[in-house]
Amino acid sequence: MTANRECYDVIVVGAGPAGSTAARKLAMAGCSVLLIDQATFPRDKHCGGLIPIKALRLLDFEIPKRSTLNDIYSITLYSHSMKASTHQDYQLLGKTVHRKDFDHILLNQAIAQRVRFYQGTRLQHIVEEKGYIRVITSTDEYLCSKVLGCDGSGSIVKGFVEGELPLDRYKMGFAVNGLLSVNQREAFEDFKLFSVPLAFSMGWAIPQGNCINVGIGGPSYQKKQLADHFKEHIAKVARLYPSSGEPKNFRGSFLPAGGFRRKVQKGNILLAGDAAGLVDSFTGEGIYYAMQSGSLAAEKIIQGKTSEFEAACKQVFHRQLQKSLIFSLLCYKKRYTELSFLRNLQCSKFCKTIKSK
Ligand SMILES: Cc1cc2nc3c(=O)[nH]c(=O)nc-3n(C[C@H](O)[C@H](O)[C@H](O)COP(=O)(O)OP(=O)(O)OC[C@H]3O[C@@H](n4cnc5c(N)ncnc54)[C@H](O)[C@@H]3O)c2cc1C
Repeated sequence: MTANRECYDVIVVGAGPAGSTAARKLAMAGCSVLLIDQATFPRDKHCGGLIPIKALRLLDFEIPKRSTLNDIYSITLYSHSMKASTHQDYQLLGKTVHRKDFDHILLNQAIAQRVRFYQGTRLQHIVEEKGYIRVITSTDEYLCSKVLGCDGSGSIVKGFVEGELPLDRYKMGFAVNGLLSVNQREAFEDFKLFSVPLAFSMGWAIPQGNCINVGIGGPSYQKKQLADHFKEHIAKVARLYPSSGEPKNFRGSFLPAGGFRRKVQKGNILLAGDAAGLVDSFTGEGIYYAMQSGSLAAEKIIQGKTSEFEAACKQVFHRQLQKSLIFSLLCYKKRYTELSFLRNLQCSKFCKTIKSK
């Protein structure tokens, strides 16, 4: 390799949950790792902030109590006409956080394992040379043997894995969300999901300290309808919290639409997390998938079995992503969501998927 350039075993692009998890694991196994991110940390991330228990279980360190907001013990699913089914669990289902804090904790854990981290460094181009890969960024060029793209839903690395495919509008999702301030301390352990009259779409209300994070998401080809329906959704949620104030901080953002047919690898270039399109299409939940796929990619690199990564991803995620598609389709069908036994069943099944793989 060229002598006057910094040279690494692995360059990880993106320091979200996927990138930090992977970089830490690689460094712990003795790999030299460069982690780059275009943002300056701590950086915020547009999110509902619910970390499911199955994601928290992947951590081998504690998240300090001061960095978490609410403990979630129940899930309520609302039909189109606002009939509710609640599944109350005796076990913790998840915790809510500010992503700024959570992602920063994961990043610091990676840095503590001697991962070199360059922030404010944007990936621009990847060139595969004979025997090594040249990574061109906004600040410098680096060399490595493997690249792991954890650069989120607008991934640049993905372009090198998938080739110049036209953007598939069915693979991209869109979400609008905002915060509703509330005074009451009731129902602050409850994660609420709402059926909405748009295909493969879902509304949510997630407690976050003294606010409720309210949002609606679905396939990006329905972006306009989602934005139009958001007002109605906010009004529905506000009726459940009579003391709620004015909604604030609205934003729209893209996320993968979920589904399970994904290309996540080309030779020594791998993808994890949102960059790999790994998101639950029923809830839009992706933090577990990001951490788990980042960890899986690291594991295959450490074992020298990168060629097995795509098959391993399929084995670990395929069934669950398939199930989440079925859930979201059932929630769209009005006549199904109005049947209480079906709603109850969906609710308890969903609880199971939040708790385990
Ligand atoms: C509105 C909304 C609500 C959500 N709510 C939840 C929820 O409650 N629970 C849940 O589990 N999931 C939720 N998700 C999904 C979740 O946020 C993502 O699945 C998760 O953040 C994916 O992690 P990641 O590490 O793959 O990517 P990200 O967290 O997006 O991190 C990617 C990183 O890459 C960096 N980057 C991007 N491009 C470049 C580049 N060219 N060069 C260098 N760096 C780059 C970015 O700065 C960023 O730091 C939500 C998503 C949205 C949009």
